[in-house]
Amino acid sequence: MDAIDSRTRLFGLFGHPVSHSLSPDMHNAAFRHLGYNGCYLAFDVLPERLGEALQGVRALQMGGVNLTIPHKEGAFPHLDEVSPLAELIGAVNTVVNEEGRLIGHNTDGEGFLRSLMEEGGEDPKGQEVLILGAGGAAKAVAMALALHGVKGLYIANRNVERAKELAASVARGAGVIAEARELSRDGLADAAKRSAILIHTSPVGMHPQVDVPPILDPELITPDHLVCDLIYNPAETVLLRRAKERGARTLGGLGMLLYQGVLAFEKWTRQEAPVAVMAQALREGLAKKK
Ligand code: NAP
Repeated sequence: MDAIDSRTRLFGLFGHPVSHSLSPDMHNAAFRHLGYNGCYLAFDVLPERLGEALQGVRALQMGGVNLTIPHKEGAFPHLDEVSPLAELIGAVNTVVNEEGRLIGHNTDGEGFLRSLMEEGGEDPKGQEVLILGAGGAAKAVAMALALHGVKGLYIANRNVERAKELAASVARGAGVIAEARELSRDGLADAAKRSAILIHTSPVGMHPQVDVPPILDPELITPDHLVCDLIYNPAETVLLRRAKERGARTLGGLGMLLYQGVLAFEKWTRQEAPVAVMAQALREGLAKKK
């Protein structure tokens, strides 16, 4: 997007708020690198105006948009088609404008999976996995893991009813055994022991509240675990620090952010995304936010 002209394809992020977003850094760096005539902007869209904003995508012939909090669930009635995975997750984070038809996708879970395999060096197929939290991000991650062929999932949440609902919907949607657990040391002991991968999906430990105690008792972590945190600011959360002290391997959330963006970029442009360039843009963007 060195020179914006009448042929520049516009992409964007709809969220509320959006000022913290690193997605413009990542996508614009990719456009520049490939010499693709595109431009990505962040738009603060109020929930009650999401329908109009998505009409705007059609009217302005935008290439597509990402959706973030609070729009991931609310977009469904305004789209022409939704991918089976997004339908299963119940949330859309990427919209592709195919000649005026808006197609909804979800790249969050697959983004996590790609980060887990490429950066974490772990293939979860056939393994048991413990997920802490049962919100939107947990749902995307749980469905992606289940469809990838994990042996079983444990889902622990402060509100245990929500964990039960997610476990039931994973079992129903992907045919994988999923059990709910209470978010307590006793509730988690057996699940942590059986799981190779522990994934924290709550916002506890996120900037600026970086020093609050993790929701997973670090005593349950062993050197055999890979401990993942979806939080990317800070890059190393208290949970990941404690996990390292316990001898475990760790994976932060920046890779998930990167790969959900990579997958969205490839759907929009039908070109291979320059992953290293996008990763560098994210790291630089994050450093500027501090
Ligand atoms: P969400 O839908 O609001 O869900 C939040 C989850 O965290 C719920 O399970 C909630 O439990 C739990 N929780 C919140 N505060 C808690 C506390 N004090 N103690 C215990 N549990 C608590 O949020 P989300 O969209 O899933 O996002 C969650 C996190 O993932 C955020 O930090 C977000 O930045 C991160 N994320 C990262 C990426 C990435 O690309 N790396 C992508 C998406 C999200 P209850 O049900 O009991 O309230």
